[in-house]
Amino acid sequence: MIIGCMSAGKSSELIRRIERARLAYLPTIIFRPATDTRSKADLVESRNGLQSQAVVVSNPRDMLKYSSQAVVIGIDEVQFFDIEVFDVVQTLLRQRKKIIASGLDLDYKGKPFGPVPNLLALADRVDKLMAVCRKCGSDFACRTQRTVQSSEQILVGDSEYEARCIDCFDPPSDFQLKINLANEENFDPPVVRIVQPLANPAV
Ligand SMILES: [Zn+2]
Repeated sequence: MIIGCMSAGKSSELIRRIERARLAYLPTIIFRPATDTRSKADLVESRNGLQSQAVVVSNPRDMLKYSSQAVVIGIDEVQFFDIEVFDVVQTLLRQRKKIIASGLDLDYKGKPFGPVPNLLALADRVDKLMAVCRKCGSDFACRTQRTVQSSEQILVGDSEYEARCIDCFDPPSDFQLKINLANEENFDPPVVRIVQPLANPAV
């Protein structure tokens, strides 16, 4: 899994790994969800200009149909698929395919995005990439800030978002975390009993 916020280099890392598999003469295929309408049909594109052939699918099950010849399978923007992608990936893994999936781990509210948490649980390897914060320039941007008003979880676009670090991330007020902490006078600290080790343990 290659995850992170927008502009972190996820798609270019996916393309790089698929190209390496191709150099090793392994049959590959890249899938992309139909929901993502930003790239030209049949291409996966990164912001730094890399591109590769891709098959656009609207239903994750279609990946089973098209991947019989492939040994290494790339899935870009995996967060846009529904949870059925989890079963599809498990089926492909049982067929001994190697799967490299990239996508957003968190949505614009800072909440886990679609099937990504489940896929992370399946993954042997997870690379979490960071972007440059567009507000303060920090190297540790890990959130995707929506810069327009909309409460749709999926609002496809680039100009409507920017990468932000955790300090500069400002989720919509409706979704800010509200956790009721016990106030101090009612708060009983947990009893901690410290067990002293024996000075001369019996042999
Ligand atoms: Zn920042």
